[in-house]
Amino acid sequence: MSEPPIFTEELLDRCISCGFCLSACPTYALTGEEVSSPRGRINLMRALEEGRLPADDPTLAEESSFCLGCRACEPVCPAGVQYGPLLEEWRARQWPPRTRPLRLRGLLWATNRRWRVRALGLPRRHARRRRGPGPWLMLGCFERALFPAVSRLAARLVPGARVVARQGCCGALHAHNGELARGHELARELGEALPGVILTTSGGCAAHLAAVLGRDRVRELSEWLVESGAAASSGGARPDGAAASTGAAASTGAAASTGETGARPSETGARPSETWPRPSETRPRVGLQDSCHLRNANGVWREPRELIGRVAEYVELPSASRCCGAAGTYALLRPRDSRVILDAKLDEIAAAEVDYVVAVNPGCLRQLRQGLRRRGSATRAIHLAELLATLGD
Ligand code: SF4
Ligand code: SF4
Repeated sequence: MSEPPIFTEELLDRCISCGFCLSACPTYALTGEEVSSPRGRINLMRALEEGRLPADDPTLAEESSFCLGCRACEPVCPAGVQYGPLLEEWRARQWPPRTRPLRLRGLLWATNRRWRVRALGLPRRHARRRRGPGPWLMLGCFERALFPAVSRLAARLVPGARVVARQGCCGALHAHNGELARGHELARELGEALPGVILTTSGGCAAHLAAVLGRDRVRELSEWLVESGAAASSGGARPDGAAASTGAAASTGAAASTGETGARPSETGARPSETWPRPSETRPRVGLQDSCHLRNANGVWREPRELIGRVAEYVELPSASRCCGAAGTYALLRPRDSRVILDAKLDEIAAAEVDYVVAVNPGCLRQLRQGLRRRGSATRAIHLAELLATLGD
C-alpha cells in the first residue's frame, strides 16, 4: 500500500521556481546557499514527497530546522505560495516525537497545562475575569505567565472585552513544531471556550487561530483598536512605499464584525476607555518590531505603526519587518543562529537611538528584552499594550 502524501498537492505544486523570494529570506541572506532559501526548501520538500530523499537525510533535517518559519517569502511570491502551511506539513513528517529535543517536548507538554505555565511566572496577575459586550480576550499560555501585565493593560484599552480564566493554549507552538493535528485541535478547543471574536495580544497566536478558525474570528489588539475607530486613520503610505489601502489589513477591514452578533467593534460597546492614549508633551522615539506571522500571514503591519504614531515619534527601523530570531521555539532550539539574527537587529536599534522598541508578540518581546539587557542598552523593549497604556496616562 502506498504511503499517504506528506504535503497538500495543490500547495506544493504552486511554486514556479522564479526566485523572487530569495532576497526576502533571512536564512538565505546568512548563507547565500540555494538550499537555505524558500525555493531550495520547496525543492527539498518535493524530493521528500517523491521519495528521492529519505526522511532521515541530513539536509532535510537541517533545513527544516534552520528555516525560521517567518513567512517573509509569502508576500513577495507572485505565485501565491503558502509556505507556512507547507513548513507545518514538512515538520509534521520530519520531526516525529522521538526525534524532538527534550526541551521542545517539555515545552509542548507544558503549554496547555495552566498550573505548569503559571509556575513559570506570578500566578493570577493577568486580566481578571469579567463580562462585556465585546471580544473575548485571549490570555495566552506563556504570555499570561511571563508578561501578565499585557492582558491587564489590553483589558483597559478595550473596556468591553470579556475575560475568562479557563482558556487553553491556541496550539501555534504545536503546529509549528511537528504536532500539526494537535495544534489544530487546541485551536478549535480555544475557539469553543471563547466563542466569538478572539482578541489577542500575540501576533503568532493570531495567525494560527485565523488559519484554523477563520480570519473573521480573530483580531490582534492593534487591529481591533484601529477598526473600532479608536485611532485616527493614518492615511499614510506603507513603510515600503506602497499605497496604504492595498494591504491585507485593509482587505480584512470588511470583516471587522464580531462572530456572534455581526456588529462592528464600535457597536458592541467596546470603545476605548478614558485611559485611551493621548499625545504626550514629550514624545519619545519609538520603533517597532513586526510580528512575522501577524504581518506576513494576517497582513497586519499598518495598525501598530498608526497607534504608536498617536503617542510617540514613530521611527521605522530598517528591518522592522524582518524576523528578530525569536521565531517561536527557534531561540531555544538554534540559539547561535537566533543570536546572529538578533545581533543585527540590536545594531539597528542602537543606530536609530530609539527610547522604546515595541513588540506585538510575546516571543519577540522576550528576545528583544534579553538582547537589549545583555548589551546594557538604554532602549527598552515594551509590548504595544504597555506603550499605549503608559504614554496615554
Ligand atoms: S517566489 Fe514563490 S514561486 Fe517564486 S521561487 Fe519563491 S516560492 Fe517559488
Ligand atoms: S519562512 Fe522565513 S526563513 Fe523560512 S524560507 Fe521563508 S523567508 Fe526563509
